[in-house]
Amino acid sequence: MPKRIGVLALQGGYAAHAAVLQRLGADVIEVRLPEHLAECDALVMPGGESTTIIRLLQRNLLDSAIIERANAGMSIFATCAGLILLSKRISSGAERGGQPTLGLLDVAVVRNGFGRQLDSFEADLQIKGFDAPLRAIFIRAPIITDVGPGVDVLATVDDKVVMVQQGKLLAAAFHPELLSDDRIHAHFLDAVVEH
Ligand code: GLN
Repeated sequence: MPKRIGVLALQGGYAAHAAVLQRLGADVIEVRLPEHLAECDALVMPGGESTTIIRLLQRNLLDSAIIERANAGMSIFATCAGLILLSKRISSGAERGGQPTLGLLDVAVVRNGFGRQLDSFEADLQIKGFDAPLRAIFIRAPIITDVGPGVDVLATVDDKVVMVQQGKLLAAAFHPELLSDDRIHAHFLDAVVEH
């Protein structure tokens, strides 16, 4: 039985994540309400605009539903704005903190951490456990500035942390759904969800 993977579909780049997951054989459900989440074995939180997504999560009562499922052991893969929403703290930086998050991943992030000149760029990442480098696209990406003791750093760019894993929570500051290299989604399905 393929696992049913929910893709948070309130705003942002959820369709590209759904396409990758389907290509890898997963059964994909678009999640907009708590009853959709209840049908899923795991969740992907896409990039987009974190201030918009948190508002919609709260309005649809999905924030508490996701926290409850994560505390019960559900796997989550979050990218870019999804990473911001998953994190415990938003440090003040290019954008000030104070915006609510789900507070599940023990890291601090700075939104738009690469600054305005580098709104968008590509880099080859050496990811822990992967044989060959992975080309990654960063779009107004956050930087992870602090990691808690249970958090494993999986990739950095110029010494800045851009990918981490904390048990069942996997998070990347970039957009692995936009290129045809599916290894991170495959890692999520095979090594995080199935583990
Ligand atoms: N800068 C966006 C935010 O702060 C995230 C950008 C993205 O998800 N590509 O929410």
